[in-house]
Amino acid sequence: MMFSLEQTQAILAALPDPAFILTRSGKYAHIFGGTDNRYYHDGSSLVGSFIAEVLIPEKANWFMQQIATVLTSGNMLIVEYPLAGADVLGLEEGPKDPIWFEGRIHPLNFQFEGEDAVLWVASNITARHQLQQRLKYLSETDELSHLYNRRKLRSHLQRQFSLFHRHHTPCSLLVFDLDFFKQLNDACGHPIGDAVIEIVGRVCIQTIREDDLAARYGGDEFAVLMPQTTLHQAWCLADRLRRKIQHALLEMDLPQICTSISGGISEFLPMDDRADIIIQRADKGLYMAKNLGRNRICNEHEE
Ligand code: GH3
Ligand code: MG
Repeated sequence: MMFSLEQTQAILAALPDPAFILTRSGKYAHIFGGTDNRYYHDGSSLVGSFIAEVLIPEKANWFMQQIATVLTSGNMLIVEYPLAGADVLGLEEGPKDPIWFEGRIHPLNFQFEGEDAVLWVASNITARHQLQQRLKYLSETDELSHLYNRRKLRSHLQRQFSLFHRHHTPCSLLVFDLDFFKQLNDACGHPIGDAVIEIVGRVCIQTIREDDLAARYGGDEFAVLMPQTTLHQAWCLADRLRRKIQHALLEMDLPQICTSISGGISEFLPMDDRADIIIQRADKGLYMAKNLGRNRICNEHEE
């Protein structure tokens, strides 16, 4: 069956997601569909404007790049991007949180007003994006300490290991373990042990630098990965963390059983052929710290 022109126009107007015709020079030449205002702002006022007039420069440049890429390659491109009220010039009201969009950008095989053009379908994927963020958080985070988990630490360590071999900038690792934690559990019960793990997590988050990554590695074992940090600097940072954790644990109204940590540090070395070796060296330092009487930070060579 053939559709009449009116029917075709009605179908285009009924498209649930807005579909823009955007020219190479960034003109909003036309918009179809996307009229349900529970999901989309009314885009019809954009028609006739240029991207550079409507969006802040950083976003406008990005949009123009996507259009150029699609027109050069001749292929459809799928992109995800946020757009906030503050990104749109002159738009002062509306939700503060950005809306996340999936853009499907298809080159058109005819010129529009004398210019090459693309069809850009923008779907609101905010709910999906929030779910993805939530799943990412859950898959990387230890729920008790709110630090990263072992999986995230290992993947980050692997990444830093590759960067180290490429750029040769220093990087260090601290592994630490609570002293006499089992005795605290036995004397006071697991919920109190859990509260201690929570406190340790909080102190780590408050103490580490922005580029460091702290993780709960196992039961009462934690790790902090410190990029751009030599062994000596790592010792200073680790010892500061040790003192802060001790201070926080002594402040807790508990029998003074588990009041300190012991830690081992290691620095990435050029001869390391696996990231695991760095953990093993830090573990040796931890073992040393326990043997020397606990409540200290050692490297594998310390006696
Ligand atoms: P050390 O000073 O030599 O480290 O002795 P320790 O008593 O701390 O002994 P160890 O590190 O071997 O014991 C760790 C304990 O941590 C054993 C386990 O019962 C406890 N544990 C592991 N995971 C959890 C947890 O999620 N919550 C609580 N409350 N305890 C845990
Ligand atoms: Mg322990």
